Amino acid sequence: MKPERPENPLSNSIKFVKGVGPKLGALFLKKGISTIEDALFFAPREYQDRSRLTKIKELSHGQTATVYGKVVSSRSIKMRGYRQGFEAILKDETGLITLFWFHAYPALKEEFAIGTPFLLFGHVEALGPMPRISHPEYEKAEEKDGKPVPSMNFGRIVPVYSESEGLTQKVIRRVVGTALKSSLVHLNDPLPEATRIRLGLSALRESVLDLHYPNLCPQVGHLPAKASRLVFEEFFSLEMGLNLKKKGKALFRSPALLGSGATLDPFYKTLPFSLTQGQHHAIREICSDMEKREPMTRLLQGDVGSGKTIVALAAAAVAAKNGFQAAIMAPTEILAEQHIKNAQKFLTPLGITFALLSSSAADKKAALGRIASGECQAAIGTHALFQQDVVFSKLGLVVVDEQHRFGVAQRNELLRKNTALVPHLLMMTATPIPRSLALTLYGDLDITTIREKPAGRKPIETKVFYEKNRQKLYEEIAATMGRREQVYVIYPLIEASEKLDLKSATEMYEQFRLELFPGSKVGLLHGRMSSEEKESILNEFRAHRIEILISTTVIEVGIDVANATLMVIEHPERLGLSQLHQLRGRVGRGEKAGRCYLITKMKNPRLQIFTASDDGFQIAEEDLKIRGPGEFMGTRQSGLAGFRLADITRDAEWLERAKEEAERILESDPELRLPENAGIRELVESRWKAKLENLRSG
Ligand code: ADP
Ligand code: MG
Repeated sequence: MKPERPENPLSNSIKFVKGVGPKLGALFLKKGISTIEDALFFAPREYQDRSRLTKIKELSHGQTATVYGKVVSSRSIKMRGYRQGFEAILKDETGLITLFWFHAYPALKEEFAIGTPFLLFGHVEALGPMPRISHPEYEKAEEKDGKPVPSMNFGRIVPVYSESEGLTQKVIRRVVGTALKSSLVHLNDPLPEATRIRLGLSALRESVLDLHYPNLCPQVGHLPAKASRLVFEEFFSLEMGLNLKKKGKALFRSPALLGSGATLDPFYKTLPFSLTQGQHHAIREICSDMEKREPMTRLLQGDVGSGKTIVALAAAAVAAKNGFQAAIMAPTEILAEQHIKNAQKFLTPLGITFALLSSSAADKKAALGRIASGECQAAIGTHALFQQDVVFSKLGLVVVDEQHRFGVAQRNELLRKNTALVPHLLMMTATPIPRSLALTLYGDLDITTIREKPAGRKPIETKVFYEKNRQKLYEEIAATMGRREQVYVIYPLIEASEKLDLKSATEMYEQFRLELFPGSKVGLLHGRMSSEEKESILNEFRAHRIEILISTTVIEVGIDVANATLMVIEHPERLGLSQLHQLRGRVGRGEKAGRCYLITKMKNPRLQIFTASDDGFQIAEEDLKIRGPGEFMGTRQSGLAGFRLADITRDAEWLERAKEEAERILESDPELRLPENAGIRELVESRWKAKLENLRSG
C-alpha cells in the first residue's frame, strides 16, 4: 500500500472557512465552489475601480462613482400599492446626495442613523436638485484621522463576482477574502523558478491575490496582469499531459506501409485531373507517417471542396498495396455512398476491392464476411464500422471523415480492430479548427492543411435577402432553372421544435411544388427518411430529374453535385457560421460559379461576417469568438478544455508559450524526475486525475 498523502488543507470543504458553515456552504456548492481551493481560484467576472473617492459636488449624471458621506436625514416613503420605499440624505464637505431604495427593509432605518459615516458605490442620476443613487452598495465606514479606511469593498480596485441567490457581492467578497487570508499560504507553486523567470511569471500566491485584488484595474474582459500566470499554468498542465500521452503512443507499433517511389503511380494515372499543391503535400506527409512503425495520428483539414477525399483514397491505396486493409468512416450514409462512388472511380482501376458497410446496407452479411477474410481491401461506411460484429483481417489504416462529428471513443474503438498492430489514423475535417483550439484539444495531433482549392473554382457569391424581397429571391431561383442549373433550398431544423420545423419544411415543399414552381420538379430530403429514400432522392437530383431540392441540414456534409449552383438558406441565423460555410460549399463545385442566398428578417452582424468572407479558417475563428469552443466543437469534446480562467481565444498567446515550455522541459527531463520538476509532476497528476504511468500508456 502506498502511504497516504498528508491532507491538503486547500481541498477542505468551503464550509470550513471561518464564517461560512453548512448553509452558506451549500449556496457556494451550487455555484460549483466546493473547496477552499475553488474559492481561491474563483475568478471575478469584472473589476470596479473604487480606489478614488468623488466629491458630491463633482458627481455627474450617468457616472458610476464611489462616495463618502454622513447621514443627515432619512425617511420611509409610501410607494404605489402597499410598498414602502426608503430615502436617506448624506453629505460631505461639498454637498448633499440622496440614496433611494424602492423596497425598504427594516434594517435600513437603523443602519442609516443620523451622523453615521458611509462609503457608497453606484450609478449616479441627477434627477432633482441633488444627485441620487438608487440601491447603492454601501458600507459603514471606519474612520481614521477623519478619512475612511479602505476595506474589502471600498477604497481599492474591487472584484465583482457572478452573484447568485443568497450570495451577494459583499458575501462572496467576505468569504473569498477570508479564504485568501487563511489559506493562501498553503498554495505551493508547481512551476520551477527557471520557468517563471524565463517567461516573466509571478509567483503563485501573488497571482492568486492579484486575481481578486489587483493593483491596476484590468480592461473589461481581461484578467489582472499577474493572473496571466494562472492562465499559463492551466495551459501548461494540459500541454504537459498531451505531450506525455503522445510519447506514450510511441510505445505502440504500427505496420510500416510504404508509399514512396512508384507505389502511387497507377493511382495518379487514373485521375482525371492533376492534384493541387496542397493535395500533393498532404499525400507526401501521410505517406511519410505511414512508413514509420509508430502510429500516425494526423488531422487533414481543408475547406469544403479542397479535395480531401482523393487524399484519403491515396492513403487507402498505399495500405492495400502493402497488404493491409483500410477503413473509411463517414458520419452519414449519404456521404459513405458518395465515397463508394469515388472508390469505384479511383480504386477499382487499381484492382483494389472494397465494400459498403452501413446499418442499412443491403448485403451486410456478405460484406462482413469479405472484410473478415481480407478479400475486401477497404471498408467504407458509417458508425456501423466500429461495431462489434465487424472484424478485420489486417487493418492498417483508419480514415475518419468529418471527424468533428465523431467522439474520441468511437475512433478509438475502430483503432482497436487490429489487436496485433495499431492502425494508422487519418482524420479529416472541413471545419477548420482554429490553431489555438487545435493546440489545446489535440496537442497530440499532427496537422496538415490544404489551403487552396482545385484550379478553376470561382468564389461563391453570398448575399442576404430580407423577407420583403422574397419575391426577388424566387425570381433568382426561376432564372437559375432557366439556365438548366439546379437549386438547393435549405431549411434548418432546431432540435427543440423539430416536429414543427419539419412540418414547415414539408409545407414549404408543397408550396414550391404546387404554387410557386408548379411546372418544375421539386424534391424533399430530410433526416427522418430511410436511407434508401434519401439515396433515391439524391440520385434523382444528381441525374437532374429534380431541379429544386428542399432539404434540411442533412445535406451539410460532402454532397457533390456540380450542376447545383444556387443555394438558398432559410433561417440562417439558426446555424453556426462554420456550418453555413459547409453548406455553402455544396454549390459552385463545378465549372459554373455558385451563389448562396440567405433569407432573413433582420440585419445580423454574424451573417455580415459570413457574406464578407470566403475563407473557412477566418470564419471558424470568428465562430470560435462568437460561440466559444464548447459550441464550436460539439459538447463531446468541449469538456476536455475545462479551464477555470483560461480563455482559448483571448489567451491564445499563452497557449503557445505553454506548449513550447512543456516541450522544452520534457526534452531535458522526459519522466519529470528532476527535483525542480516535482511540482509539475504533481500538477499534471492532479489535473489529469491519473498517475503518469497510466497516462503514458493510455
Ligand atoms: P472535400 O475536401 O470537401 O471532401 P471532395 O473530396 O469532395 O472535397 O472534392 C470536391 C470535388 O472536387 C470532387 O468532385 C472532386 O472529385 C474534385 N476534385 C478533387 N481534387 C481535384 C483537383 N485536384 N482538381 C479538380 N477537381 C478536384
Ligand atoms: Mg469531404
